[in-house]
Amino acid sequence: ATQVARKPDWLRVKLPVGKEYAHVRGLVDTHKLHTICESGNCPNMGECWGAGTATFMILGNICTRSCSFCAVATGRPLAVDMDEPSRVANSVKLMQVKHCVITSVDRDDLKDGGSIIWAETINAIRRESPGTTLETLLPDFKGNWDNLKRVTDVAPEVVSHNLETVRRLTREVRIQAKYDRSLECLSKISEAGLRTKSGIMLGLGETEDEVIEAMDDLLQAGVHILTLGQYLQPTRNHHPVLDWITPDTFKMYKEVGLEKGFKYVESGPLVRSSYHAEKHLFEM
Ligand code: SF4
Ligand code: SF4
Repeated sequence: ATQVARKPDWLRVKLPVGKEYAHVRGLVDTHKLHTICESGNCPNMGECWGAGTATFMILGNICTRSCSFCAVATGRPLAVDMDEPSRVANSVKLMQVKHCVITSVDRDDLKDGGSIIWAETINAIRRESPGTTLETLLPDFKGNWDNLKRVTDVAPEVVSHNLETVRRLTREVRIQAKYDRSLECLSKISEAGLRTKSGIMLGLGETEDEVIEAMDDLLQAGVHILTLGQYLQPTRNHHPVLDWITPDTFKMYKEVGLEKGFKYVESGPLVRSSYHAEKHLFEM
């Protein structure tokens, strides 16, 4: 399959400028933090950072996996940084983040899958900023549900794990992951009684029927919140964009999703898992 032609106008975004943007930039640099905003080349940095929000990426910035859509570097990660939880917590406090979103690279190299640092980071933020709500975008922990439980036990207000794509394309898009394992991961989160969230990227070659099927599977797994956004190719070595999904189609998916039973659906070309995340929490 070949890449479709140039980006449509609805994907144009504002350039990152302004005081608040500079403030976030400064904190991220000073505290040597990683954000998925930067590592993932997110088109919303101008908007989110300009509003004082960012999504922190913990456990380093090198991932043990190599998903074909993802801009995060793959390789052998550095040693775990035991100081990271307190640095993240400190920055969250300085930024006065109301709703804090955290994600991580996959650490398939670690026995605990990174879950100890995950739990410590959440606890550290709770200590430093008791009023801040937390959203954690978790890996599948390779199906080690004891590791997942270490994180769900500290009960973040929202717990997400992204399905990323439809069943048929999973092998091609996220080679080390499994569609059913991701669904199982989501079931575990939802069975723990937590607000459960997942996201799918569109434009990777999936059909409408396949998107609907994925929605049904997510609902079956107990997912409450769904995000749908346009996939953008980070570099020419990544999976090609096969379709530009129109804003109207995104709107249609939102209606279908709500009708089917999701509590909240954020659906649009620029939607990312962490986009407008505070809304999913407070409007539910
Ligand atoms: Fe960062 Fe998420 Fe906003 Fe993108 S949508 S800039 S990843 S917070
Ligand atoms: Fe990127 Fe996550 Fe895949 Fe790692 S597991 S390559 S961070 S999408």
